[in-house]
Amino acid sequence: MRSYLGSYFTRLFAGDLAVFGGPSTDEVLAGHIRAEQICLVLGYSLGIMLANACNAMVLAIALWHSPDRNMALIWAAAVASGAMFFGWQAHSSRRIAKPQFVSRRAMHRLVRNALILGTAWGIVPVAFFADASNGAQLVITCLCAGMLAGGAFAFATIPVAAIAFTAPIFLGTAICLGRNGDFVYLLVAILVVVYGSVLLRGVFVNSFAFTRRIIAQLEAERTVRQDPLTHLPNRIAFNETLERALRRLAHSGEEFAVLLLDLDRFKEVNDRFGHPAGDEFLVQVAARLRRCTRAAEHVARIGGDEFALIMANLTRPEDAFEIGERFVAAFADPFLIEGCEIVGATGVGIALAPRDGNTPHDLLKHADIALYRAKKSGPGTICFFEASDDKSARDRRALQRDLEGAIERNELFLVYQPFLGLRANRITGFEALLRWQHPVRGLVPPSEFIPVAEETGLIHQIGEWVVHRACSALSNWPDNIRVAVNFSAAQFRNTGILQTTVQALAQAGVSPSRLEIEITESMLISKYGSASSILNSLLQLGVTVALDDFGTGFSSLTYLRKLPLSRIKIDQSFIRDMLEQPDCAAIVKSVIGLAQDLRIGVVAEGVETADQLEYLRQTDCDEVQGYLIGRPMAADQILALLNEKKPRSTQAA
Ligand code: C2E
Ligand code: MG
Ligand code: MG
Repeated sequence: MRSYLGSYFTRLFAGDLAVFGGPSTDEVLAGHIRAEQICLVLGYSLGIMLANACNAMVLAIALWHSPDRNMALIWAAAVASGAMFFGWQAHSSRRIAKPQFVSRRAMHRLVRNALILGTAWGIVPVAFFADASNGAQLVITCLCAGMLAGGAFAFATIPVAAIAFTAPIFLGTAICLGRNGDFVYLLVAILVVVYGSVLLRGVFVNSFAFTRRIIAQLEAERTVRQDPLTHLPNRIAFNETLERALRRLAHSGEEFAVLLLDLDRFKEVNDRFGHPAGDEFLVQVAARLRRCTRAAEHVARIGGDEFALIMANLTRPEDAFEIGERFVAAFADPFLIEGCEIVGATGVGIALAPRDGNTPHDLLKHADIALYRAKKSGPGTICFFEASDDKSARDRRALQRDLEGAIERNELFLVYQPFLGLRANRITGFEALLRWQHPVRGLVPPSEFIPVAEETGLIHQIGEWVVHRACSALSNWPDNIRVAVNFSAAQFRNTGILQTTVQALAQAGVSPSRLEIEITESMLISKYGSASSILNSLLQLGVTVALDDFGTGFSSLTYLRKLPLSRIKIDQSFIRDMLEQPDCAAIVKSVIGLAQDLRIGVVAEGVETADQLEYLRQTDCDEVQGYLIGRPMAADQILALLNEKKPRSTQAA
């Protein structure tokens, strides 16, 4: 029991939070709690110190006729001036903003001061009681009782300081009472013990509850500001840091940078390896990013795979760039997740304050625009915001606005690019490719407006229009000709596409087997979960599915097995280089072999030369598509092409 009490008090005096049910090693939390405790004490310290000074003078007056008068005067002058000094100091320190952290040393200083003041009062009964008149003895008794109660109240949240202040007064009273054998003093001693125990108990109960409350409050605040997965600050904390940085900018002109990061292909990783692996990936990324920054700066996770950093006190923009480089370098080594090596990459966008803005909205928007350009330039790119970026963002928004009414204004149209079947040497079908005739900009390529349509959700409306238009064109063509329509991943998020397709086929009165849907690999991987049911329903209708741009995505062969695909389209980049680069030729050959083994069709995209066509014939490719066979053409040219005796390319070959 004694050793338990001993260790309890040792821990109590050492400022160990465990005695209050808090974490014993969390110095930051302990510092916060000390700050709260000290602030509370400082709150009423001026009044208490004034009371101390006043009491000291009352005592001096009470002892005016005692033999100890001079001693009492010296004592009272020392205590009154000491108290006034402490009181004034406490009061002026309170005017400065409330601290977030108070060190152990500051707390020790407070305890030391409490001990000095308590000792000064403890001297009173020992030094002045015996020779005092009855009236003065009454004053001393009242003063000691009052100081005990006042001290316990003032330090009610800091038991160590309460003990440091009251213990000398108890001790002085005990010595004083013990020296006098009178029975009445024994009764007074009993009263003092009861009184003291109640006070101390009150202090402990109160301080315990106070600390617990602060711990709970701080933990709640921490939870609100922390991302539970990576333990990095979250968006709320980030916004607060940004607000603080902006306040410092306004007050002292301190410049800073906002860095935004976005992981490349995170969603693909997430869907390919599963959510737990995606989470683990984020945790590892967070750990690496955390190591890139200075101690006082914290990378925050502000979105699914978005991270951000405020770089305070920026002297040169190059410093922000260097941190960006460190972030990029942090992805150099692959991540080992569940035994698989995952290669990550990031782009970084940087906005500088005040150069690129002085509001949270402007800075974040500009960092985001810079990030957009970085991501477009490829993995590992770091871009500062540039005024021209703003222009391209505005252009994008303008494009978006214009696209909204494009269908109604009849500005969209389809062109058709033929497929040539190499065995029968005949046109087997056409791919419908979308075009936008903008009234001012002229012809806008799909690579520019399809992403905008995807971002805004306009793709659903546009996609439906394309299916209807392609099916109605198909109804004019011979039965052995098919039409291929490109679908974006976003379209598979809308089950309406199924109904639209059924309707379009019915209205045009064409067999579903003549409609082919082109999807890309990345779409399969990123949205496979929700896409699969829609895709399967389409397949059940009898519609066929081709895998477009094969070789440019994740190239997961699993999907070739999982989905009943009817065709693979080898991406044009391989066809372009296959005659010069043996590795491209090897890929082309093996994809053709693979398709044959799986008993599905294979199309070579982007055939531009007769040599390419000849090579593909020799490697037994089923079909080819490209400028050599035919450029994308208007619907009214198709029947003429089909009526030609032999396709142009074969004549040339
Ligand atoms: P994609 O489906 O891979 O289409 C092939 C692209 O390659 C077309 O570009 C086509 O004009 C071009 N091309 C064909 N043969 C050759 C060739 O011999 N040499 C070269 N250099 N290029 C050739 P386009 O029409 O600009 O389409 C680009 C992409 O836009 C398409 O790639 C497709 O992903 C997308 N797209 C087009 N129309 C639609 C649509 O209606 N809906 C959706 N969601 N996406 C579409
Ligand atoms: Mg296509
Ligand atoms: Mg393609």
